[in-house]
Amino acid sequence: MKNVLDWREKSILHRRKVRSATRAQQLILIAGSSVFVNHRNNLMTLHLEGLSLVGYTRAKQSEKPTPAINPATGAELQPGYFWATTGDISRAAQLAAAAFSEYRHWAPKRKANLLRRIAALIESNGASLVDRANQETALPIPRLQGEIARTCGQLNLFASLIEEGWWVGSRIDHANPDRKPLPKPDVRSMLVPLGPVVVFSSSNFPFAFSVAGGDTASALAAGCPVIVKPHQGHLGTSEAVGLLIQQAARDCDAPEGIFSLLFGPGREVGMALVTHPLIKAVGFTGSRAGGRALMDGAAARPEPIPVYAEMGSINPVFLLPGALAQMGETLATGLHASVTLGVGQFCTNPGLVFIEPKGSTEAFLKKLETLMSATPAGAMLTPSICAEYRAGVERFSQTSGVRLLTNAAISATEGGAAKAALFVTDASVFLANESLMNEVFGPSTLVIQCGSKNEMLAAAEKLEGQLTATIHGTPEDFAIYRDLLNILQTKAGRLVCNGFPTGVEVCHAMNHGGPYPATADGRSTSVGTRAIERFVRPLCYQNFPDAALPDELKESNPLGLWRLIDGKLGQH
Ligand code: NAP
Repeated sequence: MKNVLDWREKSILHRRKVRSATRAQQLILIAGSSVFVNHRNNLMTLHLEGLSLVGYTRAKQSEKPTPAINPATGAELQPGYFWATTGDISRAAQLAAAAFSEYRHWAPKRKANLLRRIAALIESNGASLVDRANQETALPIPRLQGEIARTCGQLNLFASLIEEGWWVGSRIDHANPDRKPLPKPDVRSMLVPLGPVVVFSSSNFPFAFSVAGGDTASALAAGCPVIVKPHQGHLGTSEAVGLLIQQAARDCDAPEGIFSLLFGPGREVGMALVTHPLIKAVGFTGSRAGGRALMDGAAARPEPIPVYAEMGSINPVFLLPGALAQMGETLATGLHASVTLGVGQFCTNPGLVFIEPKGSTEAFLKKLETLMSATPAGAMLTPSICAEYRAGVERFSQTSGVRLLTNAAISATEGGAAKAALFVTDASVFLANESLMNEVFGPSTLVIQCGSKNEMLAAAEKLEGQLTATIHGTPEDFAIYRDLLNILQTKAGRLVCNGFPTGVEVCHAMNHGGPYPATADGRSTSVGTRAIERFVRPLCYQNFPDAALPDELKESNPLGLWRLIDGKLGQH
């Protein structure tokens, strides 16, 4: 009997094994070192090996592997993960740079096909991915299923965007040789990709802000190869999604370095990528300390590069007197749901709530206290995020003038879990304590009782840059508090009226950004189609012959784009 099977035989063998395996087992079925795709239903057999993906190859084993952890049980998950070496980093960067010289010339349709192929493979293999992510993050299955849909929707949205093509912002100013005193040249410009992008996945969205999340989708859509530094909170999920992207790239005949995935500590592997001369931009979601370190590292390079870091935000909510008087209990219910959603592990979690005594605060506070106290403890994403949450709750509890209304103590049986924490203080205490503006990442919120409208305005003025700011009010409230809205316009990237900030729609108009320190660059968003603008720059062509221009700028408009021609929008 021959001991080497051809790919069809391996595939048959595999299908048999896969049929008899549970979904969770499918991810770790071993089948040599190959990856199998059933092209009828796109189901892939993904063999997790704990190795980085460098272009189309796997990196070699390095030193001792680090296990992935189930945060709900503390159990180690297989396989162990090997960190990328300096050789892997350098090879991934070189491959990415080489891939860029080809990929940036791909027609929009071809790039769109790649994004759609990634989405199709993720969608088809969603059940296995969700199982693994559930084990690694303790996030509930329905939430993870929703995130798979969001991730695929995001990839498909960027595919449609680049097919439509208008986003490149073509501008044409025709020449006027007769202009006096000087002739006017022919000037045309459009947006072009920057080059290889490094993406740091977030901990709290193992799909939508991770390996194939918004940063990767927007960078690939822009025409940039991507190297991902996965989050250590979901190593296996990251490898599995990485394998799907690698397969999609193969299916679409993409140049090898279009995608790499390098495991390892942020301070070493991550920083080495950010400071590598061939890398041209960075996308990041995480803590302020992490984002700031990358911003500083990128700025100190001989050739500084942009870092688009989405960092902490405490998302203030203002409950104006009319709204509070009319529906105090309803507001408490809505706020509780928003604060505790996903064990509070959202960058849009409302961490500060401003109220005024005029607004009959009693019913609101009583209801909120009851709901927060009754909330069961929930497992957090990683042991260190949980430890950080508890330290934050402790810090607030010890701040003079701040009262904890819930019992946030954790029993011995709830080791890796977080309990909801509700704090109350006065505006004077808030105004005197900068530390109360620090994000407590988790199911915690601080209610600030303001003595007057002016005190509320003073507190709003003191806020740092935020991803969101929310106002609940009646039409009369909005008329009286117009100046509050004026202040918040300068503080936040998204203003929410009579709703709650959690839940970020992926669409063209979305802005998920905000002035520093919410993000590194308040002119950018990491959600919605505008996210593509982070990875491009304008390029201007002066007096070029038509044949030498890109299609987007040719006189005949072969792509049928909307363009700004001599100052007027048109499709000719
Ligand atoms: P994090 O500690 O900032 O880590 C995010 C990524 O950045 C990880 O890949 C990490 O790598 C890397 N990193 C961190 N510090 C670095 C440094 N000095 N140099 C280079 N790379 C670095 O965020 P996290 O682990 O997701 O959660 C920790 C805290 O971040 C939370 O408690 C919360 O406060 C905040 N957070 C905020 C948001 C948000 O959207 N605003 C989302 C998630 C978390 P390694 O882990 O490999 O070191």
